[in-house]
Amino acid sequence: MKIAIIPGDGVGKEIIAQGKKVLKAAAHKYKFDFEYEEVLLGGSAIDEKGTPLPEETIKICKSSDAVLLGAVGGPKWDKLPGNLRPEAGLLGIRKALGVFANLRPAILFPELKSASNLKPEVLGEGLDIMIVRELTGGAYFGEKDRINVEGGQKAWDTISYSTFEIDRIARRSFEIARKRNKKLTLIDKANVLESSKLWREVVAEIAKEYDDVELNYMYVDNAAMQLIKNPGQFDVILTENMFGDILSDEASMLTGSLGMLPSASVREDSFGLYEPIHGSAPDIAGQNKANPIGTLMSISMMFKYSFNMDEISHNIENSISKVLKEGYRTLDIATEGSKIVGTEEMGELIIKNM
Ligand code: NAD
Repeated sequence: MKIAIIPGDGVGKEIIAQGKKVLKAAAHKYKFDFEYEEVLLGGSAIDEKGTPLPEETIKICKSSDAVLLGAVGGPKWDKLPGNLRPEAGLLGIRKALGVFANLRPAILFPELKSASNLKPEVLGEGLDIMIVRELTGGAYFGEKDRINVEGGQKAWDTISYSTFEIDRIARRSFEIARKRNKKLTLIDKANVLESSKLWREVVAEIAKEYDDVELNYMYVDNAAMQLIKNPGQFDVILTENMFGDILSDEASMLTGSLGMLPSASVREDSFGLYEPIHGSAPDIAGQNKANPIGTLMSISMMFKYSFNMDEISHNIENSISKVLKEGYRTLDIATEGSKIVGTEEMGELIIKNM
């Protein structure tokens, strides 16, 4: 397997260093070969190549089986015009790779229950929700405009989806649900939006091919409430772009820490772009303080969704769980009595437990 690795900026380099060690440890234990190539994106690409997304980066990522990304951005590049900023590299690489589904798990390890804002009795045995968000359609990409009218202006954004766009992400979501607890909730606003009605029709049709997966529907306003009231009821959530944008951030806050959470952006085939959800954390960069777990969980997703090697994925997640059980914490998730460790030590402890 061939993996393109993008350390990026700020803490990106530190967390990716741990990620590479975990990849090597997995290759050694499970006896497989992999090649990797490091490429530039974001601020470091601006510094070296004068552009946030060099052509070479696109080429190498496209010819890889998966991409692992740290984080990009930082105050050094904040004053550059929009199309030259590090974030333009991030949007550009997602577009170039044609990924249309964003997988955002909200996982709360039972050991970290106190980091969540929810009461322990609401959290039960921890949380494990997978939000599948459509990435390339809906209001953010639909027809939009502004005109002058009497007394001011009028502006509109259009939510539009085709059967094709819904079909491909629905199939992907049913497959994901099959690998988990076999429950899929479609979140929409089908009581008022025509696009939501189409989502329901298409998803209901595909559901006939996945009769081992339980499908249910929920309106987005109720879903926002249910995520706080009873998050344990969800397994896989499928939703359109804007609802997914909002709900995935809400769900990640239930888990209490940005540094813990992974994500994947995928398309129809097994290719995926894997990255932690946090940014480059300039306030702690270069200090060996960043939590590498979001990155290691992203690697776990890579083994599950791109390489179909679920055993390695479980191995990584169990090791993280063990290390947390033993009381080791990076600063961002530390509570009284924790054994505080830095980025490197956390990486080493997890590898030792693999
Ligand atoms: P951020 O996620 O970088 O940091 C927010 C807070 O969380 C900071 O206090 C930081 O120290 C902490 N934090 C983040 N990751 C952590 C980790 N792994 N371990 C411990 N603590 C962690 O968000 P921000 O400060 O809004 O943005 C900083 C830069 O990152 C900006 O340039 C922004 O554009 C960029 N950014 C990049 C991505 C990405 O690469 N996907 C995502 C978000 C923000």
